[in-house]
Amino acid sequence: MKISEIQCHCGAIKIKLSGGPIAQFYCHCDDCQAVHAAAYVPVALYPAQAIEVIKGVPTETVLRTTPRMRCPTCGTFLFSELTNFGLRSLSASLLPRDEFKPQFHVQCQYAVLPVKDELPHFKAFPAKFGGSDEMVDW
Ligand SMILES: [Zn+2]
Ligand SMILES: [Zn+2]
Repeated sequence: MKISEIQCHCGAIKIKLSGGPIAQFYCHCDDCQAVHAAAYVPVALYPAQAIEVIKGVPTETVLRTTPRMRCPTCGTFLFSELTNFGLRSLSASLLPRDEFKPQFHVQCQYAVLPVKDELPHFKAFPAKFGGSDEMVDW
């Protein structure tokens, strides 16, 4: 099994990743826009136990319902807890650049900055993640 270590931008938090992600994508939802102060964010989805904090103690913030972990020193967003699904979604900007291989876009219904590329653009989520497979037309 592949194991890799990543860290926040200041190094106060170190995270061990066991195995590869379940899926990688861009999220355009309004929660991500608000907490990341960004138009959309790169996400890598892992089983919860595959993301382990091995140095430092992240600060938890909740905008609506999803607990999001960030570094208390540099403020970098690390991952969100998707407890109902037993998953954690990692800020994929923390991965080495060649390890982020986006497969699709989700929550395009909220997009403020449409990204026109060759990937599927789901209005909400793919059916395999509880969505409807409905697409947007960009
Ligand atoms: Zn930090
Ligand atoms: Zn989102």
